[in-house]
Order: sequence, then C-alpha cells, then structure tokens
Amino acid sequence: MLTFLHSLGIEGHHAGVFDGTWHGSGPEVASVSPIDGRVIARIQQATAGDCKEALARAQEAFQAWREVPAPVRGKTVRRIGNALRAAKEDLARLITLETGKILAEAEGEVQEMIDICDFATGLSRQLHGLTIASERPAHRLMEQWHPLGPIGVITAFNFPTAVWSWNAALAAVCGDAVLWKPSHRAPLCAIATTRLVERVCKGTGANPAIFTLLCGSGDIAGDAIVKDPRVPLVSATGSCTMGRRIAATVHARLGRTLLELGGNNAVIVTPTADLDLAVRAIFFGAIGTAGQRCTTTRRVIVHESIETALRERLLKAYSSLRIGNPLDRSTVMGPVIHPDAVAALMQAKRRIIDEGGEILHGGESLPLLGPCYVSPCLARSHPDMPVVREEVFAPLLHLLSYRDFEDAIACQNAVPQGLSSAIFTNDFREAERFLSARGSDCGIANVNAGTSGAEIGGAFGGEKDTGGGRESGSDAWKNYMRRQTSTLNHGTTLPLAQGIQFGDPS
Ligand code: NAD
Repeated sequence: MLTFLHSLGIEGHHAGVFDGTWHGSGPEVASVSPIDGRVIARIQQATAGDCKEALARAQEAFQAWREVPAPVRGKTVRRIGNALRAAKEDLARLITLETGKILAEAEGEVQEMIDICDFATGLSRQLHGLTIASERPAHRLMEQWHPLGPIGVITAFNFPTAVWSWNAALAAVCGDAVLWKPSHRAPLCAIATTRLVERVCKGTGANPAIFTLLCGSGDIAGDAIVKDPRVPLVSATGSCTMGRRIAATVHARLGRTLLELGGNNAVIVTPTADLDLAVRAIFFGAIGTAGQRCTTTRRVIVHESIETALRERLLKAYSSLRIGNPLDRSTVMGPVIHPDAVAALMQAKRRIIDEGGEILHGGESLPLLGPCYVSPCLARSHPDMPVVREEVFAPLLHLLSYRDFEDAIACQNAVPQGLSSAIFTNDFREAERFLSARGSDCGIANVNAGTSGAEIGGAFGGEKDTGGGRESGSDAWKNYMRRQTSTLNHGTTLPLAQGIQFGDPS
C-alpha cells in the first residue's frame, strides 16, 4: 500500500458506509486506477439495510445539529478546511490515482474544497433573512431561514471530492446533515475525505453522522436517498440521463432537487479577439481533465475570417501536447476514466465522419500507454450535425465557423444543454450583446475568459438540460434551508391583510 494512502486512512479493504461508525455488508467492489488498471483497494458496498440504518443516524444527527448556533457549526467547517490544507498533497495524489486527473488539477480540486470551507465559515455568521414593511399597523413581517434536514448529495467521478464540499460545507453551516453517495468510480476519494472529516468531528465534538457516506450503486445507495421522504433535498451531479431519473422520483414525492448535469459549452471567437488569450483558454478548456469537466469547451464558434489562423494555432498546440501518467508533473493530459470513455470517443469520431464532418487531429486510442489513454480529437464540424448537440464525455472539440454575429449566438444557444459559455472579443458591443437577455442562454457566460475553471465565490450551475441548479457561492446557501415567513402583531387589534373586514365572532 502506498504511504500516502496509508496516511489518508485507506486500507486494502475498506468499509464503504460511514454513519458515525464504518460498516457495509454488501459485495466488495474494486477501485481501479485508470492510469495502469491496477486495483487500489476494495470497498464493501452499502446494502439497502445499511442505507436504512445510516439514514436513521443522519436524521438523529440532524435533529441535534440544527440547534447548534450557526457560528459554532462554522467552527467545525473551518477545522475541516484546515485538515484539508494539511492533507492537500496526499488527497490530490489519491484523486489523480483514482480518476486520472493530472496532479495540478487534483491540487486545484482540493484547493476548491479549502476555499468553500473558508467561504462557508464566513457564511456561518451571515445567514440572514429580510424584514419587510408590513401594511398593517403594529405588525412586523420578516423571514427567517431554518435548517432543512438530511440532504442527499450524489456526485460524479470527475470532481470526486469538490462537488461534495460545495454542498456539504454550506449544508453543514446551514444546520443540515449530509448523506453522500459518491461515484462508483471514485469511492476512495470519498472514503479519504470522510476519514478526515471524522477526525475533525471527534476534535470539535460534532456528531460525525452529520457527514454520512454511502458507497454503492445508484440502484441501492442512490435509491435509498432519492426515494426516502426524510430527505427533503437531493443535490445530484452527473449526466442528464441520471438527472431525469432522479428528478422524476424525487419530484413524485414532492421533494426538492438541485441538479448539476451535463454541458456542451462553446467559445465564440470574433475578429477582434486576442487570439493568444483565446487559444490558451480553448486549450485548457478542451484538454483539461482529459475533456471530462462539465464545463469542458466542446465547441468553438469562430468567425470565418480568422478560422484558418485559429485552426493552425490549435493544431500546433494539440500536436505538442504531453499525454501520459498524470502523476508525472510534466504531463498535461492523463487518461480518461474508463475504457468506456475511449469507446465513446471512437464512436463519436465515426459519427463525425458519417454526418459530414472532418477529423483534423487525434481521436486515437493509445494502447501502448494503457487502455484508458487517447489523443484529443479536433474536428471540423457543422452546427446542424446531431453529434454536435451531444455531450461526449471525452476530449472532443468541434470547430464551427460563422459569418454573422447573430448566427454565432444562435449557434451557441442551439444545443439542449446550458452550462457554460464564453466569448473572446475586444468589441464592447459584441461583449454586451453576448451578456444581454438576448445573448448566451447559459448559467455561466464569460468574456475573454474560457468556459472552464469557475471560482467558488459565484453561484455555479446551468440552464435547460443542465438542470437549473446553483451551488457553491453567492446565495446558493438558500437551497439548503427552509424559508419561514412570520408576521408578528404587537398591537391590541387584529387588522386583516388587504383591508378585509370580517364578521366579529363576539
Ligand atoms: P453519471 O450520471 O454516470 O453518475 C453520476 C452519479 O449519479 C454517480 O454517483 C452515479 O452512481 C449516480 N447515479 C447514476 N444513476 C443513478 C440513479 N438512478 N439513482 C441515483 N444515483 C444514480 O455521471 P458521471 O459519468 O459520473 O459524470 C459525468 C457527468 O456528470 C457528465 O455529464 C458531466 O457533465 C456531469 N457533471 C456535471 C457537473 C455540473 O456541475 N453541472 C459537474 C460534474 C459533472
């Protein structure tokens, strides 16, 4: 066992359920590194019975935690942030080992967790409601925010820990307990994070069942969260297919969802653009995390007058890319998560050709490196090709061209997903038009900054098939609380709203 795994508390065999104690009575599943196909450890999955027990523990933990003053709750989250600072290097190595993300990006992911803990700690002294002018004399109208309940958090493989932290840090200061169902492709990242949180809770005296973990399949661990009426909110990050399934079940029991689903993000490059900036942003956006970010740049919509220049620059960048072991600091792109992702890229490549596009670069599997390695694919495509409308979760970038600026915006918006978008321009009118109500229809719209790499301070999420959820910064904390509107009468009469005069019962 590697020493950094040992210091993270990861053993060769690990229980996959934590609700104050570690257990799990389901079958063991191996966590396999996409770097070399080696088994890192085996995890005992949650059964329906384990989930039931864990939910009961989380519910009990919530009932006590909601009465702890929010700034005191914030102290536990602050200590989690500090523990993450101390474990940053080890946890980043584990993220790299289990998901294939290069070390620089894995360290960025842990930094994101630290940042959201800092944000949530400050927030714990700022949870606030409005007071509103009442139309009635001697009355006060106000709203307050109360803890909501045990919150379900279902996460995807590509941000195996950061997405949990966006939800969990906020939910914890808001007074909720969290039930985490991590991706079946990255359970060890979740176990290591939960181990760290367990230690912090022991130090602060918080009930560690506030941070419950359920490693298991969508059908068992996922269902346990999604179907249970004691879970008022399910925050789910993953594919649109998963989001549709979950939403149908949670909404059927009138629960709430916070959905963070697939993207199909575009960069518009106009004639006045600074091409140096645009190329750097597109390169990072398309290649980062081997094309497996929800915000990955998947389409470039470039003005026809600069198409050749941009294409040449991108081809040069693609050709000099270092693909290899993500634990090696000089590697820029590591493996994709699983051979299935390689197959998805190969299939998309065939469709591009069948639908009338052209492969300009790559899209080859690289078996000498291992079964999860590919060269990133750059294609010359047309906006009306069906494959362009889909999120292929692999490094595939479509180059599209436009003549009229209005067409560029229409093209950017003409896909079902609505997560992230960007424009590179030095034309003030184009930038403003892009950000206007008639502009980008995405949850994120950037000017001279790429589609990928959001800061935690803003609310993160997207429209249309991306699901409409917002998490992380700004006022996303309100998702994790219930709003209560209160009217207080300190007078001696009972005036009714809207001036209604009603019969006197005496
Ligand atoms: P996925 O949909 O296969 O799985 C995501 C999670 O959902 C996993 O934990 C999985 O086990 C669980 N799940 C699947 N079916 C379920 C069910 N029926 N009930 C309960 N849980 C279920 O996605 P993935 O391959 O892990 O991640 C890639 C996808 O996630 C991409 O589409 C990407 O765009 C999206 N994503 C979106 C965001 C965002 O913030 N918008 C962030 C990261 C990833």
